[in-house]
Amino acid sequence: MKKVVKFGGSSLASAEQFKKVGAIIHADKERKFVVPSAPGKRFSDDTKVTDMLYACYDLAEAGKDFKEQLKAIQARYQEIIDGLSLTLSLDDEFKIIEKNFKNKAGNNYAASRGEYLNGIIMANYLGYEFVDAATVILFDENGEYNAEKTNELMRERLANVDAAVIPGFYGAYADGTVKTFSRGGSDITGSIVARAVKADVYENWTDVSGFLIADPRIIYKPQGIETITYRELRELSYMGATVLHEDAIFPVRREGIPINIRNTNAPEDNGTWIVESTCQKPKYIITGIAGKKGFCAVNIEKDMMNSEIGFGRKVLQAFEDYGISFEHVPSGIDTMTVFVHQDEFMHKEQKVVSAIHRLADPDSIDIEADLALIAVVGRGMKSTRGTAGRIFSALAHANVNVKMIDQGSSELNIIIGVANADFETAIKAIYDIFVLSQL
Ligand code: ASP
Repeated sequence: MKKVVKFGGSSLASAEQFKKVGAIIHADKERKFVVPSAPGKRFSDDTKVTDMLYACYDLAEAGKDFKEQLKAIQARYQEIIDGLSLTLSLDDEFKIIEKNFKNKAGNNYAASRGEYLNGIIMANYLGYEFVDAATVILFDENGEYNAEKTNELMRERLANVDAAVIPGFYGAYADGTVKTFSRGGSDITGSIVARAVKADVYENWTDVSGFLIADPRIIYKPQGIETITYRELRELSYMGATVLHEDAIFPVRREGIPINIRNTNAPEDNGTWIVESTCQKPKYIITGIAGKKGFCAVNIEKDMMNSEIGFGRKVLQAFEDYGISFEHVPSGIDTMTVFVHQDEFMHKEQKVVSAIHRLADPDSIDIEADLALIAVVGRGMKSTRGTAGRIFSALAHANVNVKMIDQGSSELNIIIGVANADFETAIKAIYDIFVLSQL
């Protein structure tokens, strides 16, 4: 058995947290490959080292003095080193960083130093080999991460390594220039390493015990999700459930490696298992509920629309021409509605409306703002009759008017459009009927 373990910033924010991580790693000799984030917040008003690095580099880029800011960053690491009683010194590393900042090495390089330095400390603390991610994670000229070349490089590099620390969040172009993933990208690094070493499991350690059925800011102490499939997770993360970076499932998915989300502060909890497929019945018919506010519905009407070939394409062309992606397109005989993100659409709305008139010649266009979309997701819905019925009767009882319904043929999720103002009430009603009433 081989396990890849990734630890998030809050799990590595201080020496005390490092010790918990050390204990977790030593508790299981299969935890051989470790992917650390940069130190996160130690308390709620604290600043993440990644953000300190971005701010410090902004000064360097503007030609201003950044010594104090860099010193404060070094102090964060020194506090960890001292707390762990290590003899390691990062002085030389910081001299190089200072020089590279002066030479304007770029903000990707700057941000990546957060995980790079934490990786050096972690490797020293555990007695594991340090493998710089810039030597094993490759980006192509367009800034796209090159999955296949990376997999080969990483596999070869780690083939004869017994135990290693590979910092998260970054890689490099072919010429060695450092490039980071988007924020939270250490999750992706962990997944890449897991794929390359063909791990049995990718453990992602964070500060919550896995995914919850609903947002705890809306539902008081919601139940946790024990097992979720990659596809269910995609649906929920897209709608705002943010425990894991959205792109982190792709590398492990190719090898069918499960991801186990665990809590560094409660290692005895089982967390959530993210798997390709499972015959384990979910505890409830629904696996999770997530949603987002801030959508607009553009309603387009035209008599006999259904018999006009190409009408839909022409309408969507208008959105494409202005670089606006659409979320859902429910349609009727003489109507078609396009759901878009309000903030993306707002300042281009009149241009899009005239483009629709020009391209598709509709009878009328009406825009409705301030809508929310809620996704009710669950593999259990497929084999159960009446799920939609229960959702809508629960919403009716809660006095929520449903503006839109969209169920994919996979029967994995039902998307519901409601007014922003009804968002929380709707989620509560759905949670109550499927979870609370079943407890
Ligand atoms: N440290 C980076 C961030 O704050 C990456 C990560 O933590 O995954 O976004």
